[in-house]
Amino acid sequence: MSRPSDHRRSQNERRLKDLKMCQLCASTNRVQAHHIFEYAKGGPSTVEGMISLCLDCHQRMIHKDSEIRIKKKENHITTFGRGGK
Ligand SMILES: [Zn+2]
Ligand SMILES: [Zn+2]
Repeated sequence: MSRPSDHRRSQNERRLKDLKMCQLCASTNRVQAHHIFEYAKGGPSTVEGMISLCLDCHQRMIHKDSEIRIKKKENHITTFGRGGK
């Protein structure tokens, strides 16, 4: 089981790896680490299981639309919107 301290460390590591830059819009404003796989649904608290997003993208694109997910494959990121299936 991951402990909160591991979680936080992974988030920090994720941001450093992504050069503290939003991986969707390249903003460096208030970048946070988002769990690609929901933490509540058993997503891993690892660097690989997260992605750096600015506050804007994080809230607007991810958590306000449950249909949108991020698929990160190597360095390629795709978002899936409501009409994008
Ligand atoms: Zn962004
Ligand atoms: Zn998030």
